[in-house]
Order: sequence, then C-alpha cells, then structure tokens
Amino acid sequence: MMTKASIVWFRLDLRLEDNPALDAAVRRGVAVIPLFIHAPEEESPWQPGSASLWWLHQSLEALDAELHTSGSKLVVRQGPSLTALQRLIKETGADAVFWNRRYEPAVISRDRRIEDALSTQGLRVESFNGALLHEPWTVQNQSGKPFQVFTPFWRHCLMKPAPDEPLPLPRTIPTPKPWPKSLEVKALKLEPKTNWTAGMKATWRPGTAGAQTQLQRFLREALATYNDDRNRPDRTGTSRLSPYLHFGEITPRQIWHGVRRHARGKQIPDTTWQTGQFLTEVGWREFSHHLLYHFPHTTEEPLRSDFKRFPWRKNAAFLKYWQQGLTGYPIVDAGMRELWTTGWMHNRVRMIVASFLVKDLLLSWQDGAAWFWDTLLDADLAQNTLGWQWTAGCGADAAPYFRVFNPTNQGEKFDPCGNYVRHWCPELRRLPDFWLHKPWKASTDVLAHAGVELGRTYPRPIISHAIAREVALEAFSKIRDPNSPPRTC
Ligand SMILES: Cc1cc2nc3c(=O)[nH]c(=O)nc-3n(C[C@H](O)[C@H](O)[C@H](O)COP(=O)(O)OP(=O)(O)OC[C@H]3O[C@@H](n4cnc5c(N)ncnc54)[C@H](O)[C@@H]3O)c2cc1C
Repeated sequence: MMTKASIVWFRLDLRLEDNPALDAAVRRGVAVIPLFIHAPEEESPWQPGSASLWWLHQSLEALDAELHTSGSKLVVRQGPSLTALQRLIKETGADAVFWNRRYEPAVISRDRRIEDALSTQGLRVESFNGALLHEPWTVQNQSGKPFQVFTPFWRHCLMKPAPDEPLPLPRTIPTPKPWPKSLEVKALKLEPKTNWTAGMKATWRPGTAGAQTQLQRFLREALATYNDDRNRPDRTGTSRLSPYLHFGEITPRQIWHGVRRHARGKQIPDTTWQTGQFLTEVGWREFSHHLLYHFPHTTEEPLRSDFKRFPWRKNAAFLKYWQQGLTGYPIVDAGMRELWTTGWMHNRVRMIVASFLVKDLLLSWQDGAAWFWDTLLDADLAQNTLGWQWTAGCGADAAPYFRVFNPTNQGEKFDPCGNYVRHWCPELRRLPDFWLHKPWKASTDVLAHAGVELGRTYPRPIISHAIAREVALEAFSKIRDPNSPPRTC
C-alpha cells in the first residue's frame, strides 16, 4: 500500500539550508521526494538563456550530491510541470506538494494553474517565501500603493522586523520506498554544444558550497572597503554572489545574518551595518522584485509611458559590434568581453555598456536586455529589467535621461591604471595609461610603439561619443512629458 509522501518542487531555490518548502516537508515527518522539472517553455517569453542553462546543469548536479549526503536524491523530470507532478503523484501516492515562490509573471500564472489543479484533486499544496526579505505585497507606501522610488522603499523595509534567522540544514530527509524513476541531469541537455563555457568553468563554482565560500571571502576581504571598491572593475570589491542569489544557492536572509555576525564580531553598531551600502544593494534586488511583481508589463515595455514614443534605431551592425566588444571604446569592449568569457560583468561596467547601447548607439534597451539575458549567469528577470530601464531612463527611480555616461571618463575614473581594460583587451596592453581609454587620440608614434594599429588590431570608435550625446539629448528631450510630476514615493 502506498504511504504518504511530500513532493518538494525545487525551482530557483537549489539548496537544502534555509529552504522553507523543504523544511515544511521534512517537519511533516513523511517521505520527501525532491523534484526538479525542466519546463523552460513555461517561462516564455523569458525562457532561461544559454549561460543560465549552463549554471543550472552544474547546480542540479551539486544539489543532487548534497541530497545524497543527507541520504536522499534529486528526481529529475521533463515538463509540462503539471503533467510531471501528476504522474509523480500517481506513481508515489504523494499527498502534498511544497514549493518556494517565484515572482516572474509567466511563472506566477503557471503556478496558480498548478495550485488550482492539484488542490482540486485533493492534494495539500503550499508555497513559501524562500527568495526575498520582504515579499512584494507586504511593502506599500502610505497610499497603499507600490513604491516606485528606491530610498523610501528600502527605508520602509528597514523599519520592518529584522529577517528571521535562516533555517538550518535538515538533519535527515525521510526517503520514499521505492525511489521513483529519474532522468540524469545530462539528459536535459542544458549545456551548450560549443566550447563557449571554458571561461565560466574556470571562474565559477556553482552550488551552495561555492556560494558560502564566496560570502565568507567577501566578508573577510572586501566588505570593509565595499563603499570605495564597489565601483572598481579592476578590483574584486563586490561579493559576486549574484548568480548564487538568482539560483537560490544562497538566500538574502543568509547574507543578512552573515553580515550581522561579521559586524557584531567587530563591534560595529547595528544601525551602521544595516544601512551600509552592501545590504542596500541587496535592497535593490528586493526593489527589483517589488517592481516586477507590481508592474509585470515592464519586462517588455517602459514603466514611463512617454518612452513608448522613443525613436530607437535598428542597426544590426552596431548591435553586433557591441555584443562582440568591438566598439572601439575600451571600457565598453572590456565589459562585453568579460561578459562573454565569464558570464558576469561588474555593475559599474554594466551601467557603462548599457548607457553606450541606449544613449550612444540609440539601440533599444530591450535589445540590450535580450543579450544580457542570454549571456549572463545571473540573468534575472527582475534585476535585468530594472537595470536596463534604469539606464535608459524609462524605469522606476531611473537615471535622468540627460545623464549620458562618457565611456572615456568612466574608464579613466573607475579603471585608472587600466588593469581591467588591459586584461580584457590585451591588444591595447602596451598603451600608456594616458591613452588607454582613448586610443584614437594617441599619435601614430604612440600607437606604433604599443603595437596598436587602429582599424586592424583594435577598432576605431564606431561612433563619436560627443556627437552621439547631442543626438541622444535631442531625441530624449522630444519625448519628455513636461507635465509629468516628479515621483517622490
Ligand atoms: C543593465 C543592467 C542589467 C543588470 N542585470 C542583472 C541581472 O540580470 N541579474 C542580476 O543579478 N543583477 C543585474 N544587474 C545588477 C548588478 O549589476 C548585479 O546584481 C551585480 O553586478 C552583481 O554583482 P555582485 O553580486 O558582486 O554584487 P554586489 O555589489 O556584491 O551586491 C550584492 C547583491 O545585491 C544585488 N544587487 C547589486 N547591485 C544591484 C543592482 N544595481 N540592482 C539590483 N540588484 C543589485 C545583487 O543580487 C548582488 O548579488 C544589472 C545591472 C544593470 C546596470
């Protein structure tokens, strides 16, 4: 006779510790079936990109290995998700399904359909918050509306009770008998066929162990200097936790309490570390989910409707030069090559390359978001949408339209010794610092001495920034609605 069992449906919560859905299933005291269903088309039009799928492959293997150390294992199935769940329920007699919530519009409606169908079948279905400090519907301004400006949003969050302590690793995970059949992770064919991922393999260690190592390194070596170094792509000044956060291999709650323990060990007052810049950035992640949940159309459309009129260009050649890191602006090219090679790019450089795409080349932020979506290991619908709309000036609390980053000045300011550019654009490495961020201004002698031949070893700028800036300002000023009031909350 079949006994009771709980299915834990793993999605973007690929961890055992601080996992509320798993915790609820274990506490139920019956067999637990950890399940992953591969159903990318259900997330359409934002199916996971190529880099994300590479990470997912590694993470599923890491999760399975972790489950093995607890005497359990991961059951892997192909979608559709509802069919996969119903089959597994039939095979095992499971009477409950638990999962941690996600906030992407397509996933929300899919999950609702599944919850309705399973509940109608008499199953116990429960979902949990496993990804955010504050879920989007728990934070609202004084008029009961969602926030559209970050500072009051985060101030409001900080006034709420501190996040609970993370849940511990379950001591044991009760197992089903017999184990249902499972596909091997490699049968999902998540990894790209080409050898594109060598740089990712060399740079990252997906899985919870990698996440904890990264957090501890950051707390030990970089938190104290984060305010100064977070804008320096030539330094390891940030946590590099973004892909781990996206895949749920670490939680914001674990980060919060990790910072708390570290700060208290150094007698840093609570108000200081809680309002520090690092947790504020984690707050931006919260804000992005808040916006995605309340304004789901913004994955495709600008939040500020006046931007619907913006005359974006279509220029396949410009887009390709940008994607390949061949624009002739060293800091832009370095960033795009870092992205292609490692699947990650420094935040300051993301802002620079994004500004270059939308304000210098006048290509749409949606073009940029789509490329990031495919190539970023941390591609996240909430954060990517916010990042692009912020840069284009059409999102919540966005950079003003008239702020057009000068890629030369940005390079000189944030990569002053040129170490970042020299690493990713080695053809420029022998240029003196003074010319490194503006090789087209160097004399033929300087270029020849450094072995640089513009147009052959390194491109000439594909556009003049000074002219592009004027054109952009003109275009942006035309669509501006003079009657739109400034937003304060
Ligand atoms: C155009 C553009 C696109 C972006 N797309 C993504 C994306 O798809 N996925 C993604 O995770 N981040 C995205 N970001 C935000 C940011 O660049 C990355 O989160 C950050 O670079 C990750 O590095 P880190 O983990 O070292 O960050 P840290 O500086 O160590 O910050 C800690 C965490 O805070 C969050 N965070 C930091 N900065 C931001 C920010 N500006 N907005 C929202 N959350 C933030 C991240 O989860 C990050 O891991 C984008 C930014 C821009 C400008």
